[in-house]
Amino acid sequence: MVKQTIQVYARIKPTKKNTAVYSVNNEPQTSAALEFVVPKDMADGFVNNKRECFSFRFQKVFDQTTNQEEIFEHIAKPVADSVLAGYNGTIFAYGQTGSGKTFTITGGAERYSDRGIIPRTLSYLYEHFIQDSSTVYRTHISYLEIYNEMGYDLLDSRHEASRLEDLPKVIIMEDTDQNIHLRNLSLQQSANEEEALNLLFLGDTNRMIAETPMNQASTRSHCIFTVHLCRREPGSATLRRSKLHLVDLAGSDRVSKTGLNGQLLTEAKYINLSLHYLEQVIIALSERNRCHIPYRNSMLTSVLRDSLGGNCKTTMIATMAVDKRNLDESISTCRFAQRVAIIKNEAILNEELDPALLIARLKQEVQSLKEELTMLTGEERDEQLTMEEIKKLEESVKAFLDDPGPDVTLTLGPDMRKIQYCFCLLKTMILGNRSGNCSNHDIQQSPAAITGEKDTQEHHCTEEVNKLKELLEQRDNEISILVKILKKEKKKASDATTQLASISNVQKNVAKSDAGLSAVQLPQAENNEPTSTGPGGRAVQYMKRGAQLSVGKQEAFETFIKDHEDHHIIEDNKSLLKQRSTEARQLGEQLHDAKQKINEFKKQLEVRRRQRAASGVIANHKDIVEEVDPVEENLREHIEQEKKIYEISACHLKALRTEIEHLQLFLERAKVKLHKDFEKWWNEEASNAQSKNEARGRTGAPCGTLPPSSHSTPGFETLITKPAWPNMMREEQVSDFTSSSELRALSKSSLSTSSIPLTGDRQADADILAFIRARQNLLSRAGALQK
Ligand code: ADP
Ligand code: MG
Repeated sequence: MVKQTIQVYARIKPTKKNTAVYSVNNEPQTSAALEFVVPKDMADGFVNNKRECFSFRFQKVFDQTTNQEEIFEHIAKPVADSVLAGYNGTIFAYGQTGSGKTFTITGGAERYSDRGIIPRTLSYLYEHFIQDSSTVYRTHISYLEIYNEMGYDLLDSRHEASRLEDLPKVIIMEDTDQNIHLRNLSLQQSANEEEALNLLFLGDTNRMIAETPMNQASTRSHCIFTVHLCRREPGSATLRRSKLHLVDLAGSDRVSKTGLNGQLLTEAKYINLSLHYLEQVIIALSERNRCHIPYRNSMLTSVLRDSLGGNCKTTMIATMAVDKRNLDESISTCRFAQRVAIIKNEAILNEELDPALLIARLKQEVQSLKEELTMLTGEERDEQLTMEEIKKLEESVKAFLDDPGPDVTLTLGPDMRKIQYCFCLLKTMILGNRSGNCSNHDIQQSPAAITGEKDTQEHHCTEEVNKLKELLEQRDNEISILVKILKKEKKKASDATTQLASISNVQKNVAKSDAGLSAVQLPQAENNEPTSTGPGGRAVQYMKRGAQLSVGKQEAFETFIKDHEDHHIIEDNKSLLKQRSTEARQLGEQLHDAKQKINEFKKQLEVRRRQRAASGVIANHKDIVEEVDPVEENLREHIEQEKKIYEISACHLKALRTEIEHLQLFLERAKVKLHKDFEKWWNEEASNAQSKNEARGRTGAPCGTLPPSSHSTPGFETLITKPAWPNMMREEQVSDFTSSSELRALSKSSLSTSSIPLTGDRQADADILAFIRARQNLLSRAGALQK
């Protein structure tokens, strides 16, 4: 058992703004101080007791310049190591919205070097699995989002969910031992780093798609990415199971934002209710004499129960921004961290026996014990006694009972089957049936029933045999207990399987992003494909919905992309990806070249050796062969050089491969984000246009005018307005549809359908045309009337 307090670190987000006065003092070894100085003039308005200096202690404080690699090395790697050893581990990020929790846990979406703790830890774990080939590792991944006390499975790949509520709801259950089980949370097996990263990406994409301005899921929800690890040495019946929770908590923002009334630094309330419950649990845990810890008040604290004061090594990263306006929140964050730092956890090695393996091993042991027994007694025994043996036993017992002499003995020999049969016989007789009809059936059921008339064995031999028999029996008992356990486990497993039946169908390989320029172009309609179930499914589905865009909307989308704030990031990443792909190709070629050169040099070396050997034989001169040959030396040196080049290139190529995979995932995610942003923008524009029309309708303006155009998106505007509407349909010119002059003007104009720009959406276009035709009819009738 390892007793340890929760390790608390601080990370300060880089800022270019005016920062509050703060200082970091990282003492060597284990402790650090973070100090905020609140200037007196500010303190007047916002600190009750006029304190100027707030000092907090952390394990270490990571100032603005710290990069992701350092965070991983210092914080995540030790946790990952203990998870590999079989302990549970948790890392959670706590801080106000925008302080860098997601950046720290998952990473930034722009640069490969910005990847956060999750992808780096996955990399580290899988690298370890490859290196430690003497142990078998199995990993499963789950990704849970908790929003408003409801859990959602982010790894769901079946649903075409566009809202959080469409994701499978995770239900929390507690068994009789108060263990928490999460029903409906899928555990996806991941055999390698790539699969694990795809799962992370699937979850993040689901999270992004499900977020709406209404639910603000990313700031108000908690996300728990869990790696479930199981390790076993081959042939051993003990398993070690451990869990690593990587938690991105909701923003810790408090209700009151300014320092009014000097209240803020002490009493502000959480916006997020479950963080309030988390704080209650932390307070209860940090008070020495509390025996009730209110874990059950919220889903978050129930799920993280082990991580908080339980069987887990837990680490907290307090993220904060130090610009002046965030000072109060940063101080709240530090205060929370100080309480957390008191909590003691007791992590234990989670070892368990695998019943199936144990049964197999015991069976083997039983078999060898039987063989040993046969060797010692020189007698091969069946499980059951023969009829003849039973008859003899019954006679012996009868003789034993009939003989009134006190010294009479019943000699059965070193055979448990016989001894037990006789006991059973006697019991039956004593229980009233003196006829001695001990049912053969009853006796045969006892696995080691026995008889026999055998000469007494040598004393030590008997002892040995008895010991072995006892052992045998003990093992048989163990087996039957284990079989029972196994059955129970199987039943549990099958229950779980039924629940997860539909979820567990994970495709191994995920739809990979096409990394090129086409990454942000719409896929062509392939709507006849069934719902995708792969981890990339959600993204793919989301894109597929995009495939139903009308021509006009698609054009708008393409322009929208160009104006999007992420455009340059996407372009940068695309060109980086291209560059990396080229590098990878070049490295591949280098590897190939190096290999060929090595082979070539080896051949030359071989030829050279043969020649020297031959010339040695011809000249009958041994020394020629043994002398150092400069040509040979030279060749060997070349081989070594090429080998080095080969190794370096191979190493470089591996790193490149990981980077390329990340870049592809980034691009895929950017693609989904673009679509989402576009849809949002499009809908806003459409409803703006509609309300304009309604307003116009009230003032007598024509209805059924055109699709949205945006002033904020010039590219889009030119695109939409370019296919010139007939001037008469422009708002400013058709201000009053009922005016007779306009009517005349309209009736004179030739409104052929070819002059009408269409949207590309069949239904909408049909409506527009019908409207135009109806209007033309109306106008011509009105014109005729006026004449
Ligand atoms: P949170 O999850 O706490 O709300 P984010 O992680 O989303 O905050 O961070 C907000 C913004 O700040 C993001 O754009 C993120 O990329 C950026 N950011 C946060 N921390 C850092 C950092 N250490 N270095 C660079 N950028 C950061
Ligand atoms: Mg966040």
